[in-house]
Amino acid sequence: MIGILSKARQARVVEEFFELFKTPWEFYRPERTYDVIIATADTVPEVHPKLLVVYGPCTKDIDSRFGFEAGKRNQGAVLTTVDHILPVYGALLTFAAGTCGNEQEAIPNPGGVSALTPQGAVIRLGYDLFDEVELLLTSGQPIEYAHVPTLDLHIMLLRKWIVQAGVAFVEIPPNPANHSFVACLTHDIDFIGIRNHRFDHSMWGFVLRGTIGTLRRYFKGQLSFSNLVRSWMAVASLPLVYAGWIRDFWEPFQWYLAIENGLPATYFLIPIKGRPGERVPGAHPSRRAAAYDVHEHAGQVAALINRGCEVGLHGIDAWFRPDRGREERAAISDTTGSSIPGVRMHWLLHDESSPSVLEQAGFTYDSSAGYNETVGYRAGTSQVFRPPTCEKLLELPLHIQDGALFYSGRLDLSEDQAEQRCASMIAHAITLGGAVTVLWHDRSHAPERFWGGFYQDLIGRLRSSGCWFGSAGQVVAWFQKRRDVRFDACPAGVRLHYEGEPIAPALRIRVHSPRSTRSRAGGGNQSWGGFTDICWTGDRDQQVDTEVSSLMLCTQDNSAGACLV
Ligand SMILES: [Zn+2]
Repeated sequence: MIGILSKARQARVVEEFFELFKTPWEFYRPERTYDVIIATADTVPEVHPKLLVVYGPCTKDIDSRFGFEAGKRNQGAVLTTVDHILPVYGALLTFAAGTCGNEQEAIPNPGGVSALTPQGAVIRLGYDLFDEVELLLTSGQPIEYAHVPTLDLHIMLLRKWIVQAGVAFVEIPPNPANHSFVACLTHDIDFIGIRNHRFDHSMWGFVLRGTIGTLRRYFKGQLSFSNLVRSWMAVASLPLVYAGWIRDFWEPFQWYLAIENGLPATYFLIPIKGRPGERVPGAHPSRRAAAYDVHEHAGQVAALINRGCEVGLHGIDAWFRPDRGREERAAISDTTGSSIPGVRMHWLLHDESSPSVLEQAGFTYDSSAGYNETVGYRAGTSQVFRPPTCEKLLELPLHIQDGALFYSGRLDLSEDQAEQRCASMIAHAITLGGAVTVLWHDRSHAPERFWGGFYQDLIGRLRSSGCWFGSAGQVVAWFQKRRDVRFDACPAGVRLHYEGEPIAPALRIRVHSPRSTRSRAGGGNQSWGGFTDICWTGDRDQQVDTEVSSLMLCTQDNSAGACLV
């Protein structure tokens, strides 16, 4: 059990942190003894757990107790560990060189020191963990550190230190049993065909990019000659498309259904034709208006749902007005014939109050926490999380999007470079779990973008990585069920409590034990060793390997078996 000594104002973010690092914890009680104590409070009592981790940018009484000599204080810094960089956004206290214990190689530098005492290890970090987490879950990271899964690294470091301290503990990692991670394929539907765009900004933009733009990409080596020809032919064929004599090459649904071949993608649809919305930044806010009427596409929407796909709202003003959110949600629900659970804002417009505004409008999840300009981790995590201002709504972060990878005004990557960026995010998900959310826009497969081949390869890479594919709603529901599992303390250890629908795919209950070196169950994390995974669907009657249960889980009635209650 971990005891937490935080500042009073941090209670909510502490609770959220331990929904992400799903392991038993409680706020520190003086009468209890703990294997691990994590402190951000100003005063740390005289305690002797196996591992004491103290965070904070101010000098504390424990510093003199353990001989930690404070150095300079900075505002924001990039720390390094052996394998990673770790951006710190708040104040950072550094420590004099030479006090760092060399057996703790995962200590961030500068700003981290450690000491060994006869009772256990002490680690001192010069930043405030829970203030950092709160910042990540609200305003998010700046673009320059988008590629760093900062919040997931904070969890990883803590886990590593607990393991190194020889503490037995249980956790529920954010990847299902028998799957390496979770993948979520999404499409923002901004156009539904070029037929909706006659002599408007989108059409002229297409003509320009489809002729001169493709020529530029061809000479830069970013486009094949055959696609250059296809693009020019598509531009030339526009009158025939408008006349209805040939197929609309921007039409998205058939192409995506064929490529995804049964995978449960999520389509976010714009609710109201011709409405750009209010508070739209930039020089041309009117260009945010969509030219299609969702009600005219009810047949296609029904076909998507019949094929196992999900439909959500691509919101216009829902991000700042709950009444508009309800109106926009109703427009999509009218088309689908049932209430829709989720939203992603068009152009990803948001401010810090948006999650609670969307919650007031009745949404179960939002998936707008991403960047327009780049790919990566706006909240520093692959995990579904609850924004600190919300009671129920969960945020499914957006990680990879086509326009950010390839547009000339954005990352402007070649396909090889883009593949490397995506591969590093997939590698992170394989290592630490979580969901990789991908956005491919509705006309990206077609001329003049031609990003369909890359998308096909990306799906192939995801499939071969052993992930579980869920629609946005399914992924959020899985993370909600993981949150619904409670750890109850009992005399012999910890008891897992869950009431609800069976959990599919099953959770992975991971028992870390310094006595165990074998690992089992799928997932490719074999090299970590020192843990055992149990596959659990939430079923209280499930029989568990007695060898596993004896590691640390308590017994329910003194008979063999882990407590899965
Ligand atoms: Zn959009």
